[in-house]
Amino acid sequence: MSAPNKQYDPVEVAALSAEAVAAARDEALAAIAAARSLDDLKAVRVAHAGDRSALALANAEIGALPPQARAEAGKRVGAARRDVAQALSQRQEVLESERDRRVLEEERVDVTLPWDRAPRGAEHPVTMTSQRLTDVFVAMGYEVAEGPEVEAEWYNFDALNFPPDHPAREMQDTFFVAGPEASARSGIVLRTHTSPVQIRAMLTRPLPLYVVSPGKCFRSDALDATHSPVFHQIECLAVDEGLTMADLRGAINAFVEAMFGEGLRTRLRPDFFPFTEPSADVSMECHVCRGASTRPGGAPCRVCRSQGWIEIAGCGMVNPKVLVACGIDPDRYSGFAFGLGIERSLMIRHGVTDIRDTLEGDVRFSRAFGMEI
Ligand SMILES: [Zn+2]
Repeated sequence: MSAPNKQYDPVEVAALSAEAVAAARDEALAAIAAARSLDDLKAVRVAHAGDRSALALANAEIGALPPQARAEAGKRVGAARRDVAQALSQRQEVLESERDRRVLEEERVDVTLPWDRAPRGAEHPVTMTSQRLTDVFVAMGYEVAEGPEVEAEWYNFDALNFPPDHPAREMQDTFFVAGPEASARSGIVLRTHTSPVQIRAMLTRPLPLYVVSPGKCFRSDALDATHSPVFHQIECLAVDEGLTMADLRGAINAFVEAMFGEGLRTRLRPDFFPFTEPSADVSMECHVCRGASTRPGGAPCRVCRSQGWIEIAGCGMVNPKVLVACGIDPDRYSGFAFGLGIERSLMIRHGVTDIRDTLEGDVRFSRAFGMEI
C-alpha cells in the first residue's frame, strides 16, 4: 500500500508523530494491564499488536517517509512496538500462571481417606471379661501368671495328680500334639485347663504364692450351644502357711461380689478333682432373681432355671501330692485353688445362651458389649 517513492502525505504520516506513537503505545499498555483473562488479552493483542493495530499501520507508513525521516520514525515505532510486545508477553505469563493456579484449585482431587469412617477396633467380649475377672483378683493382691498353650503332659496331668491311667485323661478328651515318645518322660498336649500354669508358678516362684492365671484351653468337644473345643479359663491359686477352706471361701465370696453383685451368697458342695482335696463345686445365689423364683408365687427365672443357684466354679484345697510334686513341704504349707470358665462367666453375667456367639465373630454380638465396628 505504501511505496518509498510515494508522495509525502502529511495526513497519513500524522500516525508517525511522537505523540501519536506514544498515545498508541500507552493505549496498548493500558489495555494490556486491564486484560483480566487470556481471552481479554487475545483481543487486546489483535487490537494493539495485530496487522490492523495503530502501531502496525504506523510501521507500514515508515516506508512512505522521506529517507531522512525514516530512521527516527522507525526507531520510535520500533521501540513502541517492543514495549507493547514485552507488556503482552509479561501479561500473558501472569494470566497463564493465574489460570494454572485456579485450575489446580478448582480441579483438586481429595486423595485422603476419610479417617472417621474407619471402623474403630475394640476388645472382644471374652477378652474384656477375662480382664475384668483378672482385675478382681489383682485387686485382692494376686499376681498374674501365664504359661504355654502347648504343654507337656507332665504339667497338664502328672504333676496335678492324674495317674497315667486316670479316666480324666480320656474324660477330658485331650488333643495330643505328640505321644510320650516325644520326650523321655512326657507327651505334648494342648493344655486342657489352666492348672499347668499353677504347677509352673509353684516350681518357679517364691512362697507365699498368690497367682491368677487366665488363658485359652482346648478339649476335643464338639461345638454346640454349651461346649466349645477352644475356651478360656481363669484360675486362682494361693499357697501359704496356715491357709484353710475358710480362706478359700472368703476369696470366692469377694470374687463373686465384685463380679456379680453385692451380698450374693455362695454355696460349696462336695465334688472331686485329682488336684484338690477336699474339692467342691461353687454355686452362687442367682444374681437376677436372688432366689425369688424358688419361693411360692415367685416368677420363673430363665438365668437359674428357677433353681435359685448358679454353678460357677470348681475349687478345693491343693492336694498335698501336688505340693510335693512341686517341691513344697505339705506339712508347712497349704494351698487353695479355684477356677472357672470365662465364656461361662460372660454368659451368666450377660444372659448369653449360646457359647457359639462368643466364637463366631458376629459384630452384632460384639457391638452389644461396647465394641464399635
Ligand atoms: Zn434366678
